Amino acid sequence: MPRQPRPDSYIINAIFLQALVASEEVMGAEGLNAVLRNCGLERFVGNYPPNDLAHVVKTTDYARLNAAIEDSYGHTGRGILRRIGRASFQYAIREQAALMGIAGAAIKLLPEKQRIKFILNGLVNALKKSNADVNAWVEEKDGVIAFIDQTCGICWNRESTHPICHVYIGSVSEAVKWATGFDYEITETHCSAMGHEYCRFEVGTQKK
Ligand SMILES: [Zn+2]
Repeated sequence: MPRQPRPDSYIINAIFLQALVASEEVMGAEGLNAVLRNCGLERFVGNYPPNDLAHVVKTTDYARLNAAIEDSYGHTGRGILRRIGRASFQYAIREQAALMGIAGAAIKLLPEKQRIKFILNGLVNALKKSNADVNAWVEEKDGVIAFIDQTCGICWNRESTHPICHVYIGSVSEAVKWATGFDYEITETHCSAMGHEYCRFEVGTQKK
């Protein structure tokens, strides 16, 4: 039986803009425009939203863009979405370092785990400060750190038998790399699209 759809919600312009800029960086303007036209979002072709906190774009539109990128690129779709996630974090660092509370922070002196928690908490804070509807947090259980979002927009009202929030994996990967200088294995262990209560991204071992 299909699940009840989640009530419609909005993502702030700044986040949608960030997604479009990052997607254009990875897929090129033509690639992005083709995808936007294919998924009914042609109104954003050459017409990005302003960089503000207004709630204009529906979360379902953001989820549809994610689905369309994955569909358009076949088996390379996941990798492209992860790259978009990485580019999104880079953009956020450039534009929103103050919002994340990380501007000028001397984290080099901290142990690696503390650094990871620091940047993931920074992400949580930025998301919450810019949108009061966001419910995300950082968990540490038995020494394992995870980033959890109960309001993940990537899979909003999508259904899947496997985790699909590839953009988030990319962003968390890039955040951890920013904080430690290393690539870590990031795994999505829970996904709302699978019927779970939230999307959960676990920080695994350092990649050699
Ligand atoms: Zn999700």
